[in-house]
Amino acid sequence: AAFPAERTAILTGAASPRGIGRATAHYLAERGWSIGIIDLDEAAAQAVAAEIAEQHGVAAAGAGANVADEAQVRAAFDALEPQLPPLVALVNLAGVSSPDPYLEVTPDEWNRVIAINLNGVHYATRRAAETMTANGVGRIVSMSSISAQRGGGTFSKTAYSAAKAGVIGLTRSVARELGRLGVTVNAIAPGPIDTDIMGGTLTEERKAAMSADGVLPRIGSPRDIAAGVAYLISEDAGYVTGQTLNIDGGTYMH
Ligand code: NAD
Repeated sequence: AAFPAERTAILTGAASPRGIGRATAHYLAERGWSIGIIDLDEAAAQAVAAEIAEQHGVAAAGAGANVADEAQVRAAFDALEPQLPPLVALVNLAGVSSPDPYLEVTPDEWNRVIAINLNGVHYATRRAAETMTANGVGRIVSMSSISAQRGGGTFSKTAYSAAKAGVIGLTRSVARELGRLGVTVNAIAPGPIDTDIMGGTLTEERKAAMSADGVLPRIGSPRDIAAGVAYLISEDAGYVTGQTLNIDGGTYMH
């Protein structure tokens, strides 16, 4: 089906002020996308949507949901879709870090991280795919991490790594099933990005230490990731599916 001129991207996890999601929502709105935001805090999601509508003159709406709860995710899509142009793109950004060493990880911590970082991607992907396959066009992009590819080596450890590796497997498998129905499905594996997900631990010293590992002499910015998302959900990326795009300053080459 044709790629509609008036179209919406729904982003999960786009309400945090210095996060990748909010920066990506602005970047996409600047390029004409209408925006739906799903985040834990309904008021925060709606505030970011209002700021986007005002600054970029596109339609925007926010809804509250815990992505680890499938009924809440479905209710959020049901609330957003009638307020916005046709849903063409889903960007899965909602996620939590988890620095617990493997020998200290509790069952609750393990389940929390898998529930948000992997099950949450599945629930939103599944719901978005229903609309997209009915329309015959769609783009899905989910945040994985270099942590999945390199076996940690980042702030977060095994539970996070396992969930983010799951995102890559889910991406490839769903890409295979939905390709003939008009939907592409890709992942992005960011390296260290300057946001608050590491609990405000990113001092200048720590940033320098983290970038020592990469080919490029800095850590990443939310805008670096936003530009990758914009490409992968564009009409022109229609021949790219099942891929994991590393945006990591050359930390992991494959
Ligand atoms: P962030 O903490 O700034 O933003 C995460 C967002 O997800 C927040 O708005 C938060 O409210 C939301 N969220 C958390 N749990 C949720 C839940 N259960 N339901 C709904 N929303 C929830 O983090 P960020 O750095 O912008 O990270 C965005 C994504 O990129 C995450 O998936 C993260 O794992 C991934 N990532 C980040 C980095 C990095 O270095 N910052 C590196 C690799 C991958």
